[in-house]
Amino acid sequence: MPGPYDLSHRKLAESLAGEPDFRVRQVWDGLYRRVLPVAELSDLPLSLRARLAADPAFRPALATELRSVADGGQTVKWGWRLRDGAIVEAVLMHYPDRATVCVSTQAGCAMACRFCATGQAGFTRHLSAGEILEQVAAAIAEARPRRVANVVFMGMGEPLANYDPLWAAVERLHADFGISARHLTVSTVGLVPGMRRLAKESLPVNLAVSLHAANDELRNRLVPINKRWPLAAVMAACREYQGRKGRRLSFEWALIDGVNDRPRDADELAELTRPLGAHVNLIPLNPTPGFPTRGSPPAQVRAFRDLLVGQGVNATIRRNRGTDIDAACGQLAGHAATAGPATVALRTIRRSRVAN
Ligand code: SAH
Repeated sequence: MPGPYDLSHRKLAESLAGEPDFRVRQVWDGLYRRVLPVAELSDLPLSLRARLAADPAFRPALATELRSVADGGQTVKWGWRLRDGAIVEAVLMHYPDRATVCVSTQAGCAMACRFCATGQAGFTRHLSAGEILEQVAAAIAEARPRRVANVVFMGMGEPLANYDPLWAAVERLHADFGISARHLTVSTVGLVPGMRRLAKESLPVNLAVSLHAANDELRNRLVPINKRWPLAAVMAACREYQGRKGRRLSFEWALIDGVNDRPRDADELAELTRPLGAHVNLIPLNPTPGFPTRGSPPAQVRAFRDLLVGQGVNATIRRNRGTDIDAACGQLAGHAATAGPATVALRTIRRSRVAN
């Protein structure tokens, strides 16, 4: 289901047949480097803008926008309806001087992590590179005048299960959107062949591995793909990535009350990650409909962090943004933007738009 951001330079030139080369360059520059919508390409003659607007190749792949806001407008979640009706979600987080966007790489996910809302809903389809890029483009437009400094592939889906479109999007973000590889983070459940492929690429993107358990028995239960690529294989791929790229890895650990937040879990995690000098990101599990266990309470989260730090592991507790609009890690399910507190926020936006 390609959209305008799926056009290569050559395809763009083909679809603008009859226009001089400098016009093709202007369109490319406007759409892909300045990241403007067609209507705002003010250096083009109106007739060309009209031609672009009428051409299905330039119709956005992300159609309807359902927005909700939280944190006083600091966290924005979109539910995007794709041309075929599939829904993907993206989250924009504002910081004082910059913004980060978290994008989806698939509609749904086939990995079936027990605690993840997307995993509970199952797989719909892969996104094209253009559909991934368009989420970033929308965030760039929304964030102005702030700059979107970081893109994290941590929305819906498993990025390494959709490798070629993911990598095409990475290359375009780097080459055209001007976001350097060290500000791009690919998060994986631990798909070993994809991690190995990533290690051989020339752009050194950050790699985050969603661990959640440091022994196979527990990880098999929480993250079923671990049966296919167990911890030893995942850690070997991590060492290879770090060896080739010279970049520090990070591991994600959603703290689940009484399940993976005990002292011996911290010991196992420290043993696994310390040799790599890796960074551990701790986040209390967000509740999801299919996994009734709660996240670890704050004191337990701090105690777990202290145990890791005491063993020489670099560990940080992540601030959990957007929980009230189901925009937090693992809560993206493709329908949440229309339900619950988000609806209230959505109405507020509509009202303020009308008022403006
Ligand atoms: N498939 C990729 C990226 C998407 S998930 C991956 O697994 O890394 C992004 C992060 O959110 C992962 O670390 C995932 O394990 C985590 N996550 C999923 N469900 C969660 C939940 N309910 N609470 C907290 N984190 C969750």
